[in-house]
Amino acid sequence: MKSHKLLKNPEACRTCAKCCRIFTFYDHNGDGFIDRIRLLKTKKIKVEESDFATNEGKSLFRVILNIPCSALVKKKGKYFCKLFGNKKRPQMCNEYPYNMTDWEKRFCKGLKK
Ligand code: SF4
Ligand code: SF4
Repeated sequence: MKSHKLLKNPEACRTCAKCCRIFTFYDHNGDGFIDRIRLLKTKKIKVEESDFATNEGKSLFRVILNIPCSALVKKKGKYFCKLFGNKKRPQMCNEYPYNMTDWEKRFCKGLKK
């Protein structure tokens, strides 16, 4: 379960786990990194344009990995994080969602009560 203050309804995470099943990061295609990602022969990784830009004004692409986290478990129809309360749990997981971007608004049910 997440614990950040933006999360109005942490119980929603039990039936959602989207941020544990889909991981995203951003890149501005320096050295053709995004072009290279687009050539990967898989349906599990997608690239889309985002509303974000670097401090220098370069557009950022969103890389979407449709690959679940190995610490995610489902018991009796509800999701749990095996690393909850553990120091090994990534800090970004403890703080997510730390932003309410178009991405979070798309699927994070926990942002609303
Ligand atoms: S997307 Fe939102 S509601 Fe779903 S598991 Fe993540 S923080 Fe919880
Ligand atoms: S470590 Fe836990 S909270 Fe973070 S992505 Fe994996 S299952 Fe989700």
